Amino acid sequence: MIYSKPPMKQSWKNAPVRDFECVVCGGLFSAKREAKYCSSNCHDRARYARRGQPSSEKRKKWYRNRVKKPEYLKRLRSQGRRRHRVVQKFIRAYKTKAGCFDCGYKKHHVALDFDHVYGSKKLNVCNAKSIAQAEKEIKKCVVRCSNCHRVKTYRRLQRKGTKVSE
Ligand SMILES: [Zn+2]
Ligand SMILES: [Zn+2]
Repeated sequence: MIYSKPPMKQSWKNAPVRDFECVVCGGLFSAKREAKYCSSNCHDRARYARRGQPSSEKRKKWYRNRVKKPEYLKRLRSQGRRRHRVVQKFIRAYKTKAGCFDCGYKKHHVALDFDHVYGSKKLNVCNAKSIAQAEKEIKKCVVRCSNCHRVKTYRRLQRKGTKVSE
């Protein structure tokens, strides 16, 4: 058998946006690929019209079984990873744009930290699950490079009378 490359997954990124009419509610909507329903709500309504509403028992069972399916977990993970990448990209861009508050260093995001100076710290900015959450936390922070951050922390601990190792 001659090995042939698997067909490329179609990318919808650059596909033109077209207008469609929802077959359930008749509303106009635009999409890149052929679509019958304007929303998942309308899709559900069409499904229920065909098969009747699932009982709550059936629904619960469906959700219970879903988390056991490896494909579902795989999708969840890949979605999580994608979201994580987007948030990280935002945070890195923010750091290098802002630069160090004290010395102005802005060469590399790895050497820039978020220093919580206002309000109470809820989480490390790098652990934010969404851009909105990151933005909320960033408002309480000042960007400092690792060097300035360390010096500042040293001075703060010294002022407090904590013994600091050199
Ligand atoms: Zn609709
Ligand atoms: Zn600095």
